[in-house]
Amino acid sequence: MKRFKGSFNSKRISVIGCGTSGFHAALALRQEGARVFVSDKGEINTIYKAELQKFGIEFEENGHTDKIFQADLLVLSPGVKLDSPIIKRAETLKIPYVGELEIGYRLTEGYYIAITGTNGKSTVTSLIYEILKNGSVFKAGNIGEPLSKYRGTKGTFVLEVSSFQLETIDAFRPDIAAILNVDIDHLDWHESKEDYIRAKSMIFKHQKKENILILNHDDEIVRNMHMKARAQIFYFSLLHPVKGAYLHNGQLILDVGKKINLLKISEMKLKGLHNVANVLAAALIAYLYGIEIDKMRQRIKEFKGLPHRVEFVLEKNGVKFYDDSKGTNPHSVKWALKGFTEPVVLIMGGEDKDLEFHSLRDEVKEHCKLVVAIGKAKEKIIKTFRDIVRVIPASDMEEAVRISYKEAKKGETVLLSPGCASFDMFKNYKERGDVYQYWVRKIAEEN
Ligand code: ADP
Repeated sequence: MKRFKGSFNSKRISVIGCGTSGFHAALALRQEGARVFVSDKGEINTIYKAELQKFGIEFEENGHTDKIFQADLLVLSPGVKLDSPIIKRAETLKIPYVGELEIGYRLTEGYYIAITGTNGKSTVTSLIYEILKNGSVFKAGNIGEPLSKYRGTKGTFVLEVSSFQLETIDAFRPDIAAILNVDIDHLDWHESKEDYIRAKSMIFKHQKKENILILNHDDEIVRNMHMKARAQIFYFSLLHPVKGAYLHNGQLILDVGKKINLLKISEMKLKGLHNVANVLAAALIAYLYGIEIDKMRQRIKEFKGLPHRVEFVLEKNGVKFYDDSKGTNPHSVKWALKGFTEPVVLIMGGEDKDLEFHSLRDEVKEHCKLVVAIGKAKEKIIKTFRDIVRVIPASDMEEAVRISYKEAKKGETVLLSPGCASFDMFKNYKERGDVYQYWVRKIAEEN
């Protein structure tokens, strides 16, 4: 890929896709004096269109024309695949391309903390932000605002970054980078596995000796990434003492030169062992950034977690209901189940993304007394688990919750952790979680 260097002033830049990140990249680049052209394959939201017009930014919608290639640089929105015809043509024409994160990085100044991984990014990014919070700390990337919205701002940026954003960086170099986990079990093709690992490794590609890389010692793929890194490396682990942060007898410990007892699991509001790993990662980063221990301890104790991530909804007749609607892949379902010692009625299913559920069989066998299957993946779920546990299909969320109420006994738990995307039945995971919680509350009133 050809690289883009120098200032954006007077350059012709085509922004492909006008969602939140494309829109903010276009505005920021226009303010830098670039000649920006926005092109979207669908319709552009009316508020964005009005703003583009106000800033004198030309745009087209409902399809891309060749005009996008009259450019010195392409800025890609998430969703533009790297093997798409647009990219192939850009390669042929030697037009460099980057994602919005790279634009934001070049137009801001300060300290960058970047978090990636298959699961836990939002939780860890939000917790770090809560620990560091003051007037010049900003949460951006996949969570919060696109980085380019902070054009001209100096501060500390805590960034949640996805594989796509990492695939389209050019010079992005975080002062602290963290890779939480890499689950490739659910990916179908060997090639896409390699690509996925390579994309995650991009987070430290440009790091130098003075930068810091945080790796999950318990995840073999992640642990082995140290071989390719130049930065100083620290680990977090649930299993072993490591240089960094680890768990020992229910106690979270920081050990970077000297050992510090941070807090006990029982002092955390967050539920589940995966969240202990998330707290270890966040605490280690905050410590290396220079936050005092007492302040950090207090903020971790107060942190309740984010909605729809193993969120407690209510308890009725001794049955607890949890909403893990954000659990959109088998890896997150596995970890959600590990967090329970009581029998679980698991509501699972949704859009079938060609995911493979076999990796979940051990946890389902150990933790579930019943699986309620919903959505397009229903048949696959029945086939995967019917020899180890009872599986009941439900036609919608109301029926799934009603079945759960009927089947779950005192002391047991009902968990929505779909392991699938939501688009077959809902707008997004938030709507799915809200609908689940609505029925959990409504049926509680009837009982
Ligand atoms: P992301 O931003 O990476 O999607 P979230 O913090 O939003 O991560 O959590 C997404 C899902 O993954 C939720 O179901 C959550 O319970 C689960 N999860 C969170 N952290 C971890 C982890 N460290 N390992 C496995 N699953 C996790």
